[in-house]
Amino acid sequence: MIVNASNVVEKSADILVIGGGSAGIAAAVAAARSGAHVVLLEKNTYAGGNATAAYVGTICGLYYRNKAREARFVMGGFTKDFALQVQHASNSQPFQFGQGLHFLPYKRSAFMEVADKQLRQNKVNVFYNADVKAIKMDSQSIHSVLALVENKPVNFTTKKVIDTSGNALTAQLGAGMLVEEKNYQAAAQVFGMCGVKTVDNSILNLSIIRTIQKGMATGDFPTEYKRLSAIPGTYENGFLFFKLGIPLQVENTSASKSSLEIFSKEAIQFLERYLQNHCDLFANAQVHMIAPEVGIRTGPRNEGKEVLLKKDVLDAKKRDAGIARGAWPIEFWAPGENPRMEYFEEDDYYDIPAYCLVSATVENLFFAGRHISAEEDAIASARVIGTCLATGFAAGKMAAGKLENQPEKETIRKIREEIANI
Ligand SMILES: Cc1cc2nc3c(=O)[nH]c(=O)nc-3n(C[C@H](O)[C@H](O)[C@H](O)COP(=O)(O)OP(=O)(O)OC[C@H]3O[C@@H](n4cnc5c(N)ncnc54)[C@H](O)[C@@H]3O)c2cc1C
Repeated sequence: MIVNASNVVEKSADILVIGGGSAGIAAAVAAARSGAHVVLLEKNTYAGGNATAAYVGTICGLYYRNKAREARFVMGGFTKDFALQVQHASNSQPFQFGQGLHFLPYKRSAFMEVADKQLRQNKVNVFYNADVKAIKMDSQSIHSVLALVENKPVNFTTKKVIDTSGNALTAQLGAGMLVEEKNYQAAAQVFGMCGVKTVDNSILNLSIIRTIQKGMATGDFPTEYKRLSAIPGTYENGFLFFKLGIPLQVENTSASKSSLEIFSKEAIQFLERYLQNHCDLFANAQVHMIAPEVGIRTGPRNEGKEVLLKKDVLDAKKRDAGIARGAWPIEFWAPGENPRMEYFEEDDYYDIPAYCLVSATVENLFFAGRHISAEEDAIASARVIGTCLATGFAAGKMAAGKLENQPEKETIRKIREEIANI
């Protein structure tokens, strides 16, 4: 990017957070609560990332997996508080699905409201419409970050950086090591229909499956749209959310992202008409809302001092340096296929070690959320919103601890205490 130096506005921060998704919100709040001057840069005009832009609709990773009727939190502290506030603002309740999986359905507007309230109350300096474009390094540290804020160049000098961009942006821009896969997990588009005839959730899903199967048998329904499902727990007053799994390969390129957007918009037009004409429950239903972005599940990751392994997840491994807890099984979505689920024991969790959030090579770089240092199978568990909130909060605390020259062990001990405080 070519920028005329005389046009660049200079600003500074103690801690700069890149990306205002679940992890970024939590990281910014944690660092600000420790007294740091925190700047959060978000390229959209609202907070939430996938939780709002792709409207995934349910928060997973908050509760233990078990058959009990009541959902039981696996972590306390910020993650629990944030979830309870979103629950209250959404007027929803935890929902139980097969295999003892509990999750929280939420309203998109409620998620945004709680995020903005948290950022405001904790005096985080938020810049929306701020697209990070470049990073300047000083020996082994990031010295400053250049962003286009409402299309004007602003250079933020900073002491620490927390990358919560969802796609390891810092590493893509040359700070630290980038871990790339050839193809990533399947993307999906969320949309909602209103005017759906009232029936219970299981009947709704069964009707959709039957309609699709019948259509495929007669050749009326394209097989590429067959990964359509109702999102459990979201049916309310005739309104229902759907998730359409996209069968295309996902790569880390803008061409791949454009193909996903085009595919999903064409598919929704077809599906609205098809359901209206072929399924009684949808005869008077209409598409009422389309999530602004296709949901990208995984992308490149930063390389940390440690890597979270698939084995750590399945063994529910506990660690002295564990600073967040993973409670969701491995849910791996290959394009065009059913998800592959792999579970650890009920009523258990695995620890995410602090060093999965600390750059292997850049001294002042931390990361959190869906691009922590983890194997692709492990991130298929740790990418859920509940866990992203927790890794975000931990990264914020660690960055603030370093700022105060607090010994790392002491910072980790305090974070462990907070998450255990259920
Ligand atoms: C289809 C789908 C369904 C899912 N279902 C569920 C579910 O039911 N429950 C659940 O808990 N999880 C679900 N997930 C996973 C979950 O939604 C995400 O993994 C999680 O929200 C990621 O949070 P994050 O903060 O790490 O990243 P993101 O939410 O991706 O946030 C990253 C933020 O960084 C910003 N950003 C990126 N680049 C820049 C830049 N250059 N400058 C400034 N800002 C930038 C983005 O705009 C974004 O706001 C689903 C994901 C998908 C895709």
